[in-house]
Amino acid sequence: MLHVGANTLCGTDLRILRGEKTRGVRFPSVLGHEFAGTVAAVGADVQGFAEGDKAAMCPVIPCRRCVHCLHDRENVCANRRAMGYEYDGGLAEYVRIPAEAMAAGNLFPADADIPLEQLALAEPLACTVNGHRRSGIRLGDVVLVIGAGPIGLLHLQLARRAGASAVIVSEPSPSRRAVAAKLGASHVVAPMELAATVEALTDRTGVDASIVCIGIPQLVNDAIALTRKAGNVNIFAGLPADGRVDIPANEIHYKELVVTGTSAMHRRDYEQALRLIGNGEVDVASLVTDKMPLASVVEAFELAQSGTGIKVAVVP
Ligand SMILES: [Zn+2]
Ligand SMILES: [Zn+2]
Repeated sequence: MLHVGANTLCGTDLRILRGEKTRGVRFPSVLGHEFAGTVAAVGADVQGFAEGDKAAMCPVIPCRRCVHCLHDRENVCANRRAMGYEYDGGLAEYVRIPAEAMAAGNLFPADADIPLEQLALAEPLACTVNGHRRSGIRLGDVVLVIGAGPIGLLHLQLARRAGASAVIVSEPSPSRRAVAAKLGASHVVAPMELAATVEALTDRTGVDASIVCIGIPQLVNDAIALTRKAGNVNIFAGLPADGRVDIPANEIHYKELVVTGTSAMHRRDYEQALRLIGNGEVDVASLVTDKMPLASVVEAFELAQSGTGIKVAVVP
């Protein structure tokens, strides 16, 4: 059992609350899938953890037996069960870690020096590590990140670390644009200026890779239009309802675009995310703009919904 130290709120939590996401969600259940804390009690068969240890939770528990798990896709396991969806999550004072999660190694020991709200962000960073790999970004690439929410700001940092020669971030909010500039974006633009910026920077050929980090259908079309021939378009964000978008399939055909999706993470992505945070290679501290007590969780959700900050951490 973990004493929750911090649980950061996520767009998926908001989509569950609004009833837009129902798949894999048990009702009623305690939300919260981005959390870390201190071990409060240790079960009889548990090894490797002691009371008082800090630990961080990879919330997606794969079955390790289905065809997807066997083909290196445990993130889309057919029988996956997740904390904050099927199992009660981290928006509580204490959270019980299921035996199957302990058996799969989903609870990771964490460095006592790292603040717990930063450890909680290993979850979105792990999903971003997965998306980064899917987006095929290579040394010298010009990368387009659409949206400077938490995910876009993490993608920006991973692209820079991977050696992108330029990272263009498109974002309507001036305050979020300022954070993107601080975290290393070479070009930060409002959506209206995006097409002209890409044209000027790439001599009209388009970017090498683009990542859609905001769930607005039209943005998928923008990414397809602004990515060069044989480039990669990654659809990271979940779209509302069934996610239907009217796309020009001929653009994919003639441009030989590679269109990829990203869903959740592998346990190895989570382990890598913890290392990137521990080494200070990815700045997650700048993303935590608000901390609220558990008693103010409703206000915390309203704040997250408003989009004025970046990440809201609920601290029991
Ligand atoms: Zn999340
Ligand atoms: Zn599986």
